[in-house]
Amino acid sequence: MIDYSDALSMVLRQTGPLGVQRVRLEDSPGCVLARPLRARYDSPRFSQSAMDGYAVRAADLRGAAARAPVPLELVGAAYAGRPSRAIVRRGTAVGIMTGAPLPRGADTVVMKEVCTEHDSGLIVREAARRGDNVRRRGEEYRKRALLLPAGTRITPPVIGLVAAAGHASVTVYRKPTVVLIVTGDELRRPGQSLRAGEIHDSNSPALAAALQELGIGAGRIVHTKDRTSPIRNHLRRALSSADVLITVGGVSVGDRDLVKPILEELGVHTLFWKVAIKPGKPNYFGVYRPQGRHRPPRMTRTSHALVFGLPGNPVSALLSFHQLVKPALLKILGLKNHAPGTSVATLAKPLRKKAGRLEWVRGVTRREDGRLLVTPTAAQESHMLTGLAQAECLIDCPVEQTDLRVGADVNIRLLEWRQ
Ligand code: AMP
Ligand code: MG
Repeated sequence: MIDYSDALSMVLRQTGPLGVQRVRLEDSPGCVLARPLRARYDSPRFSQSAMDGYAVRAADLRGAAARAPVPLELVGAAYAGRPSRAIVRRGTAVGIMTGAPLPRGADTVVMKEVCTEHDSGLIVREAARRGDNVRRRGEEYRKRALLLPAGTRITPPVIGLVAAAGHASVTVYRKPTVVLIVTGDELRRPGQSLRAGEIHDSNSPALAAALQELGIGAGRIVHTKDRTSPIRNHLRRALSSADVLITVGGVSVGDRDLVKPILEELGVHTLFWKVAIKPGKPNYFGVYRPQGRHRPPRMTRTSHALVFGLPGNPVSALLSFHQLVKPALLKILGLKNHAPGTSVATLAKPLRKKAGRLEWVRGVTRREDGRLLVTPTAAQESHMLTGLAQAECLIDCPVEQTDLRVGADVNIRLLEWRQ
């Protein structure tokens, strides 16, 4: 049995980006830029109005005031996407809407609110400084400027910026192909009726959602009975295509826990089995280096598949994913911050445990007198999803500790299902 921190380091040592890929913007959420992104145009691309108003020459309005309004001749109108061909000469103005290109000759925009239009003329009741209400060409950035460095995670505002900068696709680290193999004779899909001894499969939908949240897509999900030959067939097929293979259930010490010996028989090299954590002790991790496995050379940097065997108890499966699989997936996606972060809180209820394993007690936090208090949720057993569904964080109960008193400082890890 190994410690959690050693297990996580082992996983991350085997993990890295899988190469790069060009993806369309709509397929890019959740990816990470593999190349710096540069502007294809100046921004703004042309000088334009920041207001609905009138394009003028500031010099014409010198001394304008409510008691000394300045009359101007109106010679045209400019709209966003519909420039005016009129030229603003001395004593004239062009009506202009937000985003419309500034007509030739104008250097300033006055707001509609300080003007009155009549017949073919305009009266302006306020002086202006040259450049007022004008968005100048290139004032934000110039063509070819570095906008985003490699390593930037693609969020909605990043997508907006990429599109605004003139790109329809981006070069990102390739998303991994994930295959999920769910084992168990007792499992039925949600919605199916249950016979004696059967339960609904909660791990497939929960883990598929966890993969979706990371922007990887639900992956391919395969269900198998606890029998050697279907498990072997499914594992063999998955190993030929997956970058990351996640099995669920059947990896403990029961008579029908067949996954680990079959993985080893198929050539998966075991790096650990059993981690000193609760829940999640029977976690398995191995790597698979196929002989002559076909992959386009441009796509590969790691030539092996990662194989995670998660225990089947629903809380164990999800926490194992959160604490061991998710950091690996984030590293594959190209994120720099892939290890789960911790912070410190004050324990609001006592906790007791046995020595020997790091326990992750599910908790909720609240602020009181400037302190962050953490309370364990009810339902802490590894088959009890109610406790995990309410939880915001995991309370780290260190391996050798047995009693944690009220008021003790404890490390907590936020349960973050997103990147
Ligand atoms: P196992 O890890 O296969 O020994 O399963 C441990 C416990 O988790 C058993 O009570 C299983 O019925 C339950 N279990 C395994 N897989 C699932 C699943 N996909 N959904 C819900 N419960 C499961
Ligand atoms: Mg099972």
